[in-house]
Amino acid sequence: MAQFSILGLPRSVERRAARIADPVERLRFLRRQAHAEKESQRKHRLSSRRGGEGQKRPRRSHLRHVVSMVTGLVVLVATVPLPTGTAETFAKERMRVVAGNEQPRVAGPASRVWLVERSDSLELYSNGLRIDLTFAVSNRPRSRFSIFSLTGNAEQQEDSDAPVGIVYHTTESNLVPFEEEENHHLQRLGRNLIEWVRQERSYHYLIDRFGRVYRVVQETDAANHAGTSIWADGRGVYVNLNDSFLGVSFEGQTGAVDEVTPAQVAAGKVLTEMLRSRYDIPTENCVTHAQVSVNPQNMRIGSHTDWAGKFPFAGVGLPDNYSIPLASLYVFGFEYDSVFLRVTGMRWRGLDLAELRVARQAAAEGLETTRYRAILQHRYKEIASALKEKSQEVVQ
Ligand SMILES: [Zn+2]
Repeated sequence: MAQFSILGLPRSVERRAARIADPVERLRFLRRQAHAEKESQRKHRLSSRRGGEGQKRPRRSHLRHVVSMVTGLVVLVATVPLPTGTAETFAKERMRVVAGNEQPRVAGPASRVWLVERSDSLELYSNGLRIDLTFAVSNRPRSRFSIFSLTGNAEQQEDSDAPVGIVYHTTESNLVPFEEEENHHLQRLGRNLIEWVRQERSYHYLIDRFGRVYRVVQETDAANHAGTSIWADGRGVYVNLNDSFLGVSFEGQTGAVDEVTPAQVAAGKVLTEMLRSRYDIPTENCVTHAQVSVNPQNMRIGSHTDWAGKFPFAGVGLPDNYSIPLASLYVFGFEYDSVFLRVTGMRWRGLDLAELRVARQAAAEGLETTRYRAILQHRYKEIASALKEKSQEVVQ
């Protein structure tokens, strides 16, 4: 007969979990098992209740179910000392994952890249980067931006004006197969695209499919690339990143066969090196639009999903930044849905880490996760409305 631990998972499951080396994978395994166990209990209850009116209750989304189950377990573990079993296993996993995450990220300083030559149409840099200046335009100058404290209130903030990071985008524009016979179409689409993004002031840089790097909006100015967005580093939290982050876009389309070409990846690498060198940008602030984008209307992340998966972090010389916990979740209580999880390919370690951090913080405050999340969301709304007022003052 199978032995069950205090929260209802067979001990054999825990033994299997112990053999999984990666802590996040192990936690995911436990989560799947906990969910399967709960589902089978629910079905059992339903079937024993049937024979009556067969009344249907609205189904909660699968994701919410799993998340609330796991956070529930984590909070329970954190608040009630349980002697043995699944609770303890979850607690251990939580400590391992969080402890792993608290270690300083190894991020080498940007190697020095300098301008070698400049003409009206071209800049050449020491690492081989060539920037085409033919289409460069100005926009409004970049404003000083606030850096909010990670935990405190809206008043505790400092401000700055040098860019602190890079947000990578895809243009989500029409593509043709990346083949020699398509040269003419490839050239024409690239040309139309540069005209369009220039007119819209969409990004600071565009990398076309042949790996040509175009400056679009001058670096001294803000580009309209990030919208409502959030990111954090050791200094604090950045909200709405148009002024604080530079926008680099790859001509491409999510899900396309030739999503990005090797020439684009190579160009992305030398451009990233130059920008990191020029502004002393840490690697953890080089992230994708899907990682930073939020929708304040429904308090969910992933309003934009470009580079929700498969961004070639290694190819552009960066660590896998999908593993960084999202500040939108653990600082401001945003959530995500199953649609978002699907576009990420379920690969983001950063989502799990952020969820665990929320659960841990809630437990430390002695609050239910939902209550704690509501407090975080309130803080976001205060900051967002203060920023809105400020931007209206700038416009007037
Ligand atoms: Zn984007």
